[in-house]
Amino acid sequence: MVLGLKKEAAMKCSICGAAELAEGHVTLTFERENTTIVVKDVPGLVCPNCGEEHVSEETASHALEAAERAAANGSEVEVLHYKAA
Ligand SMILES: [Zn+2]
Repeated sequence: MVLGLKKEAAMKCSICGAAELAEGHVTLTFERENTTIVVKDVPGLVCPNCGEEHVSEETASHALEAAERAAANGSEVEVLHYKAA
């Protein structure tokens, strides 16, 4: 997982550098004390070579906000679907 991807950066994978990133959807997982929050369908970029997922800082922080709200429910596992702001 790579966060803070800059839009103006070359869209090559920053892990393997071997392939152009493709638009796709990724799954983010956040851990809190007693809760695991899974956020699905997060828009991001996926490397077709190594499978590394890249999510922009803005998108990641939005997903984190949703995860924090879900964590307040107090259940052990919460599965969310990402919704754009
Ligand atoms: Zn890669």
